[in-house]
Amino acid sequence: ENPHTQTQRTRGAALRNPRGTTTPGAGPHCGMAAAAGVWQLVGVAVATLLAAVLVAVALGRQRQRRRRAPLEGIPAPEDGCEVADGAWSAAVDGPTDVIIVGAGVAGSALAYTLGKDGRRVHVIERDLTEPDRIVGELLQPGGYLKLMELGLQDCVDEIDAQRVLGYALFKDGKNTKLSYPLEKFHSDVAGRSFHNGRFIQRMREKAASLPNVQLEQGTVTSLLEENGTVKGVQYKIKSGEELKAYAPLTIVCDGCFSNLRRALCSPKVEVPSCFVGLVLENCELPHANHGHVILANPSPILFYPISSTEVRCLVDVPGQKVPSIASGEMANYLKTVVAPQVILQLILS
Ligand SMILES: Cc1cc2nc3c(=O)[nH]c(=O)nc-3n(C[C@H](O)[C@H](O)[C@H](O)COP(=O)(O)OP(=O)(O)OC[C@H]3O[C@@H](n4cnc5c(N)ncnc54)[C@H](O)[C@@H]3O)c2cc1C
Repeated sequence: ENPHTQTQRTRGAALRNPRGTTTPGAGPHCGMAAAAGVWQLVGVAVATLLAAVLVAVALGRQRQRRRRAPLEGIPAPEDGCEVADGAWSAAVDGPTDVIIVGAGVAGSALAYTLGKDGRRVHVIERDLTEPDRIVGELLQPGGYLKLMELGLQDCVDEIDAQRVLGYALFKDGKNTKLSYPLEKFHSDVAGRSFHNGRFIQRMREKAASLPNVQLEQGTVTSLLEENGTVKGVQYKIKSGEELKAYAPLTIVCDGCFSNLRRALCSPKVEVPSCFVGLVLENCELPHANHGHVILANPSPILFYPISSTEVRCLVDVPGQKVPSIASGEMANYLKTVVAPQVILQLILS
């Protein structure tokens, strides 16, 4: 046997007591060499323990920085996303390939698609709680087909979405029904109507379920440019801290009220009218699973189901400003201009 093997054996013996537990120096061969070996080993063990503690503390801090709250109403995924101060982020290793500003329908679908494609995506969304908006509540069959193409069709599941098969039109006391030409499609293909916020949360959830998509709550305040090229964004998180993120590509999906678009072009937006939305509970429309459009005077009134118990009424009100709710102007407009036409067209026709 060579001396090295001998030393190892001696150490082994010194560490093992007759009961098989590990007590240094308690074995039958505890000479000076064995004792020195034991202390060396204890030293190594202590150093290893210290190093492990330091690594654990460092990792803990890093994870703490990445802790984010789950989306409202959506449980945090099991793969390590954690809770704190009003945002949600899935940890993404390595540099970002694409920054997406805004997680509405466009930003979320894009993040999911690029993420599925293997890109490291950093989505920065101003508010990750469930939106409460009157926009984007009726998805046409073509939109549903697009969801299928992107693998996002389950985003209309479990949100009490209603199937939409076409439109009923009302004008001058007469009405007609226009059905979508869906004969050639799978029976699942139809329009869908729902609460926009529920749908958006499902889309965000899908995007954030990918390990290479990071969804963070923050408001992008500016695009970072160098020599006319966008290099990334500056954004503010809930604590007020201003952060910067860089990527070879930044895609701005911040919606129709975009502030950032103005940094890139001069949009000419005209506002001819405003939509006023009401939710009607537990009432039935004349034509089930259809959107209803009343071609009223001075402008259209729409009805469509957004859940099994709710119907959305959207009233187009001409002008750049909505009538004041506080002064009663809005109630007056709805009672005197809208309601009589609804009664005439929907109920009497
Ligand atoms: C009254 C109305 C009704 C509509 N009805 C329908 C309909 O029935 N069906 C339909 O298909 N379409 C409808 N639309 C159109 C539809 O709403 C839009 O096409 C769609 O919402 C656009 O999606 P988006 O993701 O581009 O923008 P948005 O849905 O507006 O999303 C933009 C996101 O960006 C975030 N954001 C904004 N600024 C920042 C920032 N600086 N930093 C970080 N995040 C930011 C916002 O919080 C938001 O989540 C309707 C529109 C209106 C106005």
